[in-house]
Amino acid sequence: MTAFSSIPDYHKNLISSNTTCIDTVNYYLQQIEKYKHLNAFVEVYGAEALQKAKALDDKRKNGEPLKALHGVVIAIKDVICYDGHSVTAASKILEGFTSIYSATAVQRLLDDDAIIIGSCNCDEFAMGSTNENSAYGNVLNALDETKVPGGSSGGSAVAVQAGLCMASLGSDTGGSVRQPADFCGIIGLKPTYGRISRYGLIAYASSFDQIGIFSNTIIDAAILLKVMSASDDYDSTMLPSQTTLEIDDINTVSTATKKYKICYFKEALFHPSLDEEIKNTILSVLDKLKTEGHQVEAVDFDLLDYVVPAYYVLTTAEASSNLSRFDGIRFGYNTKVDIKDLTEYYKRSRSEGFGKEVQRRIMLGTFVLSAGYYDAYFSKAQQVRSMLVDKTKAVFADFDALILPTSPTTAFSFGEKTEDPIAMYLADIYTVFANLTGLPGISIPLFKHSNGMPFGLQIMTSKADELTLLQLSAYLMQHYKAYQPLNN
Ligand code: GLN
Repeated sequence: MTAFSSIPDYHKNLISSNTTCIDTVNYYLQQIEKYKHLNAFVEVYGAEALQKAKALDDKRKNGEPLKALHGVVIAIKDVICYDGHSVTAASKILEGFTSIYSATAVQRLLDDDAIIIGSCNCDEFAMGSTNENSAYGNVLNALDETKVPGGSSGGSAVAVQAGLCMASLGSDTGGSVRQPADFCGIIGLKPTYGRISRYGLIAYASSFDQIGIFSNTIIDAAILLKVMSASDDYDSTMLPSQTTLEIDDINTVSTATKKYKICYFKEALFHPSLDEEIKNTILSVLDKLKTEGHQVEAVDFDLLDYVVPAYYVLTTAEASSNLSRFDGIRFGYNTKVDIKDLTEYYKRSRSEGFGKEVQRRIMLGTFVLSAGYYDAYFSKAQQVRSMLVDKTKAVFADFDALILPTSPTTAFSFGEKTEDPIAMYLADIYTVFANLTGLPGISIPLFKHSNGMPFGLQIMTSKADELTLLQLSAYLMQHYKAYQPLNN
C-alpha cells in the first residue's frame, strides 16, 4: 500500500487504484505482527478485516460512492463493545466475556464502512495513567520501549503511534485519551461530554466518561468525530440536537484564519510539578501567538489544587457503584473455590477478579459515599465541580480557547510511579479539568523534549465548540509543528 497520511489522501489513492482495501489491511496486519512485542492489541480480527476489505473493494468496483470511513482501518479500546467480539476492560473479571451488542460509536463506524482491525490493551476498567494496570501486561511506548505509553488508553495510542492502524478509539474519563497522545506524540481528542454516545462503553465514572479519538491529523479526528456524533436514544446524557456538530464541510477545519482570543491559567503554567522545559516551550508559543495578532491573556485559577482530589473522590464514588455489577455471576470470571455462602462467593470472585488499583478505587469510592463521610468528601467534591463549571462559563464568555500543558512531564519510565498512587494521581492535574466540566479538550503533538520524548499542547474550548477546538488545533499543527510522529 502507499504510505498512509490522512483519510482524504487514502481515499484519493483508493479511487485512483493506487491501493486497495485488501492491500491496506494486509499491510496493517503485517505491521501488527512486526510490532507484537509492544503489546498494543488484545485481539486482532485479521480474517474478518480482510473479508470486509474484499467487500469494500467490490463495492468500489461496482461504482458505489465512498462513505466517510470507507476502508479506514480502526482499532478500538477493550472497553468498547463490538457485537460477537470479546470485551474485557483488560480485567480478569471479564475473562471470556463476549459482547452481545455493539456500542453506538462502533455501529456508526461500521455503518460508514470502517474496518475494525482489533481491540486494544488498556488499564483495567480504564483506571490508570500508564497502562501498567492491565491483566494483559504493559504496553511499550514505540519511541522508547523503556517508557510507558500513558494510560489508560495506552494500547490505542501505540496502535496509532507505531502505524498499526489509521486511527483508534479510546475513552477519556480524566485524561485517558489526551495524556497517552501526549506521551506518544499523536493527536488525542476528547469531545464534549455527551457528544459521542456512551452506549456500549463499559462505565468507569458515568458523568465523566467520553469516547475519544487518536489520529495523526486533525482532519482525520474531525471525520471520525462527525461520523460518531449523531444523537442516540440509548444515551440520555447526549447533547441536545440543536448542538449538532458544525463540521458540515470538513474543510472549514483546516482553512480558518481568524485571530483567536486565547487564555492560560497562571497557576497551571507556574505549577511546581510542571517540567521547566515544557513550561518554557508553552510560554514561548503563547508569546509567539501574541506577536501574530492573537489576543493572549493570563487568567487566575485558584482552584487548580482542588481538581485532582475532586476528580478522584467523584470518579471512585461512581466507579464503586458501576463496578458492583461484576459479581462473579452475571459476567465473565467466577471463583473456582467451592463456597456455599453467597456474600462470600461475591467477595471471593471480586477479590480474585479485580486487580489492585481497581480494588483500591472501589474501596475509596465506597468510603466517600458512606454515611458519616458523604458530606465531608462527596458533597464537597461536588461543590468543587460546580465551582469549576462556573469558572469555565466565565472564562469562555471572554475567550475562544484555553491553553494548558497536557501532562506535567513526558512519558514516565516503567515502575516510576507504581509504588506511589498519589504521585500517579497528581500527574492528572491538567487533564481532569475538562472531564469535571464536561468540556472538549485535545492534545496536539507539537514538541520534542531534550530528553528525546514528545510532548503536546492541550487546548480546551467551550461546551460543544469542537469546531473552534479543531480549527485552532489545525492552525497550530500547521504553524508550530516541530515534532514528527513515528512514521510507518
Ligand atoms: N489517569 C486517570 C485515572 O486513572 C484517567 C483515567 C481515564 O481517563 N480513564 O483515573
